[in-house]
Amino acid sequence: MEITFLGTSSGVPTRSRNVSGVVMKLPQRAELWLFDCGEGTQHQLIKSDLRSSQIRRIFITHMHGDHIFGLMGLLASCGLAGNVEQIDLYGPPDLADYIKACRRYSHTHFSYPLRIHPIQPGIVFEDEHFTVTCELLKHRIPAHGYRIIERDRPGQFDVEKAQALGIPFGPLYGKLKQGESITLEDGQVIHGPDLCGPTEIGRKVVYCTDTVFCDNAISLAADADVLIHETTFSHQDADMAFQRMHSTSTMAAQVALSAQAKTLIMTHFSPRYAPGNNLQLKDLLTEARAIFPNTEMASDFWTYTVPRRRSDQPRPNRSQAVGAKSKPSKPKKKAKSPAAESSDSDA
Ligand SMILES: [Zn+2]
Ligand SMILES: [Zn+2]
Repeated sequence: MEITFLGTSSGVPTRSRNVSGVVMKLPQRAELWLFDCGEGTQHQLIKSDLRSSQIRRIFITHMHGDHIFGLMGLLASCGLAGNVEQIDLYGPPDLADYIKACRRYSHTHFSYPLRIHPIQPGIVFEDEHFTVTCELLKHRIPAHGYRIIERDRPGQFDVEKAQALGIPFGPLYGKLKQGESITLEDGQVIHGPDLCGPTEIGRKVVYCTDTVFCDNAISLAADADVLIHETTFSHQDADMAFQRMHSTSTMAAQVALSAQAKTLIMTHFSPRYAPGNNLQLKDLLTEARAIFPNTEMASDFWTYTVPRRRSDQPRPNRSQAVGAKSKPSKPKKKAKSPAAESSDSDA
């Protein structure tokens, strides 16, 4: 399971960062799931090693332009490429009207079935390998965070041991692999778990954007292997974060800490922290790591492989969560007036 960031800027693109778009490449199936689709996402896909023809599902968090303006272009190109079988699109109820109007006024026809699923808190998608749920976050318009849960997998089956026990090849192996117990003809009872290695625990990836600090983000991110959380502002600009309902580095870190997540990846950065400015992104990273050490900062085209956990491996980070603060504090520094802002008008 690999996560590739296609856009990590908030509001507007910069030279080095496009607006929101995150791809999840799924194991054992040639499928990409895209989370948000800011303008230029298809260009980023072309520049990456990923193939847009493999996009199978698209999950949209909210209707702000920096999360959806790339959608029509990408969907239209997927149709022209002619090698897309079907795309399922999940998002707020308004998304269907938006796509419908775009198709109508631009006379766009998709050569493949596009299924649009309006979401509401709870289960969004489920199959034999994954469950995706969503919760409402706290933003200026309804915004949803997504939680992708992979199912646990039985550990590796010890074929040699099974043969040594005289278990005949065939369906009994399948039962044992699933953790069931079987009785051999001689009355011997064999328990599946005795022949399987440690269970491979399904991974949990959580995507929270756009939002100010909120309890739903914590419950959504509970025990996540990876929490991708927006970090539009520095802790020093917390007043602005509260006004615009975005997160600071410390809010994202406190969500990760309270949720006992394993890794935090920050994204959706305001362009105001570009190199040369007083505060820079490395400062946001320092702020977050002071609270949650296992924090990474996403950049465009960066790929993170989500490691698998086995049931016999203890989880790191648990002790850090003891005594976690539940609410972030506002910093004392007075924020600049919002009117002075032009570059991070993340609507
Ligand atoms: Zn945004
Ligand atoms: Zn937004």
